[in-house]
Amino acid sequence: MTDRVDDEEELLFMSKLDFGDFPSSFRGSAFRPDDPGYAEARTIWNCRTMDAGPAFIAQCADTDDVVTAVRYASDRDLPLALRSGGHSTDGAGMPDGAFVVDLSHLKAIEVDPASGLVRVQPGVTLGVLDAATQKHGLVVPSGTVTTTGVGGLALGGGLGFNSRRFGMTVDNTVAYDMVTVDGRRVRADLDKNPDLFWGLRGAGHNLGVVTSFEFQAHQVGPNVHSGLILYPLDQAEEILTALDAHMAGASRALTVDPVLLPAPPMPGLPESLIGVPILILVVVFTGDPATADEAVEVVATLGTPMVNTVGPSTWLQTNSILDVIAPPGRRNYSKGGYIAALTPPVAAAFIEQMGRAPAPDGPGVSAAIAFQAVSGAVHDFDEDSVAFSRTGAMWLWEAVVQWDDPARDDEFLAFTAKALASVKPHVLSNSYVNLTAHQGEEWLRGLYGSPRKFRRLQALKAEWDPRNLLRFNKNIEPASGTGASV
Ligand SMILES: Cc1cc2nc3c(=O)[nH]c(=O)nc-3n(C[C@H](O)[C@H](O)[C@H](O)COP(=O)(O)OP(=O)(O)OC[C@H]3O[C@@H](n4cnc5c(N)ncnc54)[C@H](O)[C@@H]3O)c2cc1C
Repeated sequence: MTDRVDDEEELLFMSKLDFGDFPSSFRGSAFRPDDPGYAEARTIWNCRTMDAGPAFIAQCADTDDVVTAVRYASDRDLPLALRSGGHSTDGAGMPDGAFVVDLSHLKAIEVDPASGLVRVQPGVTLGVLDAATQKHGLVVPSGTVTTTGVGGLALGGGLGFNSRRFGMTVDNTVAYDMVTVDGRRVRADLDKNPDLFWGLRGAGHNLGVVTSFEFQAHQVGPNVHSGLILYPLDQAEEILTALDAHMAGASRALTVDPVLLPAPPMPGLPESLIGVPILILVVVFTGDPATADEAVEVVATLGTPMVNTVGPSTWLQTNSILDVIAPPGRRNYSKGGYIAALTPPVAAAFIEQMGRAPAPDGPGVSAAIAFQAVSGAVHDFDEDSVAFSRTGAMWLWEAVVQWDDPARDDEFLAFTAKALASVKPHVLSNSYVNLTAHQGEEWLRGLYGSPRKFRRLQALKAEWDPRNLLRFNKNIEPASGTGASV
């Protein structure tokens, strides 16, 4: 179940509750659909699900509030949705009929410069996290758009411009504080609840309400090299395949994420090309500045660029370079998965699909096929070390669409479905939970890799959420017959 409660009976039941007995000890703000402030409280980044109305939003002020809200919902068996940054593609943070525990106001960050350990609450967004850690020359490996929430990102995986150097966010998480679905506080690390610790690192949306993360940060920046290299589409197949080969042996401090998209207005780009599909390489080099030119030069000579903006920058500028193509308030959707290699047929299929993108609807980028490197240090960590799956993946790709007119929903969704169909034989059966809409039950069973891993997650779900109260996510149903009470 994702952005809707399919069960009409449950929706009706939830709509009749008045929550008049919600505890007065709750310090945050609580909203029912008719309350002033409800519309603002239920607004999330993705407007596609704006007509979905949660039954109740408990906007928590602190962890005690989380315990209060969860216990209230649990005592009444109410379906529980969690909202941190609100970036879920499926709109899972504010679904129809749900009792929402809103964690977006839990924003504490503590950085220990000596150890590099960083404690973060789930409502912190990536830009704020970067700003806090960069004061000490540190970075927590995470994602690429500053408005994304730590909560959902860090529990699903966390892939970004530092993953080739340090691995995923889950590989750099050393502890969690969690409120269980019946309202108990527990800790999960290598010593305490190690099985839960394993599951939270990749399947964390399913197991409890994480109220604090402890990450290992690394020295990065403040000075790095980054920028965009723009190529015409007729060079794209050759460049994508050459890039695939180059990255296999490239410095781990170099990340190059290709994007196929209609050309946005940019200095140096002829006006006649604006809106025409092109290839952009997003280039980030965080290693020794003395070797940056050499590392970047190879990428810039894979073809004949139209524009090349790569040069000295800061980490904070670099990790907000993609914000411009991810504005809040539009209708959004994406579908994608892992591929093992950008071979000529795979690259050609993506390029052909890009040529069939829907006509834009509103300002900004309407459709893109974006790739993120899943290489280097990501594969230093064993497949079974955490729930997140990585076996065989070298690239994560997704077809992303943004539009404004609800009447065009089908057209934009169809583009992502066709892009997926065009490369289906090459898409791996394991995947990354965070950067795609739900793709059905069979897909879900393969998402975490081996059947053994999925069974382990079902057993964990039975132990930590046996009633499946947390079901507004890519939902793992509890294993039957193993439902130990928590
Ligand atoms: C524009 C954009 C850019 C992105 N870029 C990247 C990227 O570079 N790298 C990357 O890895 N991902 C990226 N993502 C995907 C992102 O990781 C997921 O959408 C993630 O779920 C967002 O987390 P959130 O807290 O913002 O979302 P929310 O919608 O608040 O939550 C998402 C899911 O997490 C669950 N959840 C949230 N908080 C908690 C909690 N505290 N405890 C337990 N479960 C919780 C929710 O139940 C929900 O199922 C991007 C998404 C968008 C929209």
